[in-house]
Amino acid sequence: MVGLVVVCHSRPLARAAVALAAEMTRGRPVAVEIAAGLDDETFGTDAVAISEAIAAADSGDGVVVLLDLGSAVLSAELALEMVDEPGRVVLSAGPLVEGLVAAAVAAASGADRHEVAAEAGNGLAGKQSHLGAPVAEPDEAGRAPDSTATITIRNAHGLHARPAARLVTEVRAFDARVELRNATTGSAWVPASSLTRVATLGALRGHDLDVRAEGREAEKAVEHLVALAAQSFGEAEEPDDVPEGGAASPGVGIGPALRIRDVPIELPDVPSQGPATEWRRLEQAIGTTRQEIGRLHSPVFDAHLLLLEDDDLITDVRGRIDQDETAARAWHGATARVAAQFDELADPYLRGRAADVRAVAQQVLRALLDLPAPAPDGDGVLIAADLTPAEAAALDPGRIAGVVLASGSPTSHAAILTRTRGIPAVVGAGPRVLEIAAGTLVAMDGGTGEVVADPSEQVLASFRSRADQQGVRRNEALARAPETAVTSQGIRIEVGANVGSVEDARAAAANGADLAGLVRTEFLFLDRTEAPGVDEQVAVYRRIAEALGGRRITLRTLDAGSDKPLPYLPPPTEANPFLGVRGLRHSLAHPAMFAEQLRAIVRVARETPVSVMFPMVTTVDELRAARAMLAEAGEAPGLRVGMMVEVPAAALRAAEFVPYVDFFSIGTNDLTQYTLAAERGNAALLSLTTGLDPAVARLIDEVGRAAGERVLVAVCGELAGDEAVVPRLLAAGVRELSVAPGLVPLVKQAVRAV
Ligand code: PEP
Ligand code: MG
Repeated sequence: MVGLVVVCHSRPLARAAVALAAEMTRGRPVAVEIAAGLDDETFGTDAVAISEAIAAADSGDGVVVLLDLGSAVLSAELALEMVDEPGRVVLSAGPLVEGLVAAAVAAASGADRHEVAAEAGNGLAGKQSHLGAPVAEPDEAGRAPDSTATITIRNAHGLHARPAARLVTEVRAFDARVELRNATTGSAWVPASSLTRVATLGALRGHDLDVRAEGREAEKAVEHLVALAAQSFGEAEEPDDVPEGGAASPGVGIGPALRIRDVPIELPDVPSQGPATEWRRLEQAIGTTRQEIGRLHSPVFDAHLLLLEDDDLITDVRGRIDQDETAARAWHGATARVAAQFDELADPYLRGRAADVRAVAQQVLRALLDLPAPAPDGDGVLIAADLTPAEAAALDPGRIAGVVLASGSPTSHAAILTRTRGIPAVVGAGPRVLEIAAGTLVAMDGGTGEVVADPSEQVLASFRSRADQQGVRRNEALARAPETAVTSQGIRIEVGANVGSVEDARAAAANGADLAGLVRTEFLFLDRTEAPGVDEQVAVYRRIAEALGGRRITLRTLDAGSDKPLPYLPPPTEANPFLGVRGLRHSLAHPAMFAEQLRAIVRVARETPVSVMFPMVTTVDELRAARAMLAEAGEAPGLRVGMMVEVPAAALRAAEFVPYVDFFSIGTNDLTQYTLAAERGNAALLSLTTGLDPAVARLIDEVGRAAGERVLVAVCGELAGDEAVVPRLLAAGVRELSVAPGLVPLVKQAVRAV
């Protein structure tokens, strides 16, 4: 007679299941062994105990093993390696209780081990047909799937892009072919490994999805899916109102909602250069897009990344390229098909996901056709998931009344760019803002983080009056902007601008900046195929100084690294790029490029007032090494040398750096991120990364104390532009503030009020 083994996490459960099965065999004896729990109370499974149970149950006709979940399966597989005759043992994919009952009945009736295993595997059939749940259907090849289940969607917006992305990503990790269908609507089966196909299920809250799987890990995959669905695919319940976001760039913006990336692209009418060439070009464009998206570190784009690897989409594109379409036409055709599938869905939220598909489709097309970043078409309030630096830089302040981003934080690079361009912005407003349809009137306040779609007359009037008051304040500040800022106690404070281009330098001058307190030189190094030479750098730095009318410019040496990678010096893969080879560490690791930049800086410093500073300094040794290289680059009499203080270690040991610098410039964006262990771009950590944290204030005090009389203390992080924080910074001994160009007049007023 075939023996049975029950493997499960709980010993009492196994005993009870065996007792139940014994009831069904009506007293006929069956050899059942238990390998369950670590003792009577502790959950667990043990491979040695399982192998011993198998040996005890095997009387020569073989053994069928019934299992519960997870490690039970792994332990049983391991046990098979320990038994003498593994060929006589069948691990059943059937359900533990129903399978055991069916197997016991079959074994008691003298069935062989294959028949017993088949009975166990079919253990759920009776209950399923009784309750109307799907009975495992044979697939096209006539085989029954290895595992099935039904899950219910609990997410408020159904299985929309993010939960669908999570489902697809996690299912792919299993060695199994998993399919889904919407049992509520009676849809066709679709592969769970394809985001686009999963989205076409139109699965709304409360819908039931049938799951079936085949393959070695079919059961595990299905179990995992069931657990994921029970946790709403990791998605917290969202409030019904459009949430407030982070105040990122002050000012009120009112206008119709605009969406970027919907601008149509004209496809060139050229013949295919052959499938191999076209395919290679497409792969490159997809790679570039993946890099651009990755650089944003924004979970909002996870679905976009997944789309770039979607089997269904890529197979379609490949087929089109093989039929002599160009890469651009093939990509456009295949993505348009997918977007059209979304358009047909009944639920407006899921239908809205077509915009995601079109956005990423456009991004790849632009990379493929070498087109510039898109600018939104029209005037109004731009709503987007996030912006690439190139997109943010392309915004026209004359046309864009405001920017509302689902993702990001006030110190994210997109936020800094909106502030630099003087465009009101709210960031980290959450994915609900992406539901605002293009053309809907939007009122937003970048000073408070409020966003109202389709405001009532009353709300609109209040935003308008706020905008008017701000306009009056701004005009007063602008009128006094060219004057120096002096506190009521007669302390003169330099108010400079942070610039990342010649155009920013012009805006700085127009807003009365006393200097450029931070020139982010990386703008010259990113998004190109090789580093700029000395002459090119000299020309650009000179133009920045000229745009500022010869006022002092503070050139920060290249702050590249893993979060701002250079295409021509790809960084090694780093698990924590913000803790990696960035800033000065990166420059010291690439001395030839660093030496060229220092030579360019020294040359410009011989013509015009220049300060140079090093980013991300952590130790005195690093600073000494940088100074030694600067000395080798040559002499320039008026050149002032400083360092950024943005690593807590440097702030705490500021006194040790004093002998080597003329000034400290505190980078509060990074100093906050490193002090609070809170990534600066992470929208979920806004409460940690917004404002002056007391711990950061103490570090700034420490720098102020250590600097003494000789060394100037500046702040160039975004906090310097926060009018409410200015008095606290001055109290710590800060004597220079460097802010987004558009904020200079208001910050000067704030200084005067101290
Ligand atoms: C800072 O970290 O505060 C800073 C000014 O540098 P960046 O924002 O360029 O990293
Ligand atoms: Mg920094």
